[in-house]
Amino acid sequence: MTEQGYEIIDAHCHIFPDAIAVAATAATDRFYGTHALHDGTVASLKTEQETYGIDHFVVQSVATNPKQVAAINRFISQTMENGKGDFTGLGSLHPDSSDIRGDIERILEAGLHGVKLHPDIQHFPMDDVRCMPIYELCEEKHLPILMHTGDSRYDYSNPNRLLPVVKHFSELVIVGAHLGGWSVWDRLGDQLAGYEHLYFDCSSCFHWLQPEVVKRFIRLYGADHVLFGSDYPMWSPGKELETFLSMGLTEGENRMILAGNARRIYGISEKV
Ligand SMILES: [Zn+2]
Repeated sequence: MTEQGYEIIDAHCHIFPDAIAVAATAATDRFYGTHALHDGTVASLKTEQETYGIDHFVVQSVATNPKQVAAINRFISQTMENGKGDFTGLGSLHPDSSDIRGDIERILEAGLHGVKLHPDIQHFPMDDVRCMPIYELCEEKHLPILMHTGDSRYDYSNPNRLLPVVKHFSELVIVGAHLGGWSVWDRLGDQLAGYEHLYFDCSSCFHWLQPEVVKRFIRLYGADHVLFGSDYPMWSPGKELETFLSMGLTEGENRMILAGNARRIYGISEKV
């Protein structure tokens, strides 16, 4: 809870087991040419929680090959179980898995609340035929997908790949990370707005976009369709929150984006 009385859910955090956190974070830095502010451990996330009064984190990790899926999902569900209600976990899937149905069953059995996909790191175009079973099953089982969207260097996750999926799977809930297209913001606009089940998060945007631009996207998509997220460990959840609040959105908009939408979409229950 912030001093203004806002409840805060950071809906986009990557976490790693301690033994590989530094290497995994360095690999992301190399991919994006960034320099992460944190080390990707659960402990550092808890420090942010205590320092900045962040209430809850949606945590996930990305499998770079099908063999990693089971171990990652075990780690995420264990973190959730040990987290005393502070974490909601999303499972990882890989489109090259020979048992996507089984992977999704195990995600549900483990009590995870959705799925994270990253087309650029996992090397699949979002509208690839390999992904259709994932979308069909997630739609059927009401599992929301946090989807990395946008990379001007590739043709995997940009709006031209996202829109066919959104149009075809009209009940599938997708959260398009980074306002729907990291590094291709100039290609976004009305075309992504107005789909009932297509949401967005504003993670990894403030480093590249002026707050005024972020605000314009939020108003275009609607505050009921945007979630706050930091992309931890790349950025500090607390510092991202400070920048977010400096945009001067209305109190009602802030309440939706900072917690309400994430609660609804990912089924995060109120803390008692
Ligand atoms: Zn991410």
